Amino acid sequence: MKTIKLKNGSKEIPINKIVCVGRNYVEHIQELGNEQHEKPVIFLKTVTSVIYSGEEIIYPSFSDDMHHETELVLLIGSMVKDAKRIEAEKAIAGYGVGLDMTLRDVQNDLKKKGHPWTIAKCFDTSTMLSDFISSDDYKLTLNETVTLKVNGEVRQNDKLNKMIFNPAQIVEYISSLMTLEEGDLIFTGTPKGVSKVNRGDVLEAQIENVSKLNCKVV
Ligand code: MG
Repeated sequence: MKTIKLKNGSKEIPINKIVCVGRNYVEHIQELGNEQHEKPVIFLKTVTSVIYSGEEIIYPSFSDDMHHETELVLLIGSMVKDAKRIEAEKAIAGYGVGLDMTLRDVQNDLKKKGHPWTIAKCFDTSTMLSDFISSDDYKLTLNETVTLKVNGEVRQNDKLNKMIFNPAQIVEYISSLMTLEEGDLIFTGTPKGVSKVNRGDVLEAQIENVSKLNCKVV
């Protein structure tokens, strides 16, 4: 069973489902030549793809272009359906940093065919998570910086306030499409600077005041 560990507490929360937002930062939409939409792009990842800080990301045999996407991850703490903004805000129980590893070559091929992104997003070890901080212990301001280093070199470095849709808006929107429950995770999209990783690379991701993680690609 995959769980979320909250800092400053013994509580471990089983992960239920993983909902992801795509195209939530303008400069990232531009770097991939994608269109900006009026509503967030939504897709799912599998719980079996989850690994934790200190573990290894295994390069799948069916790709030569695995990218890092560093993201703020929301932990849902209570059931919400058709939430209004304040209820959506209250449903967020914690924050962490995550890597939504993506097979860009596979994804580009799927996009051309109009197929779902599942194969590009759900391979084993494609979802790396940090420990989480409780929203009771830390009030997110969106002035926090999200950073990713590869072998010590900064590749992604942006403020969370560059998000098009903020966390409460994202929870409000997703809860209008499907019920959210305790233990659900929401990946909120990646800022610019996504790039290819290679076997042997060491990745370090951090969101200021929230959490950090590190891992190696093998
Ligand atoms: Mg992503």
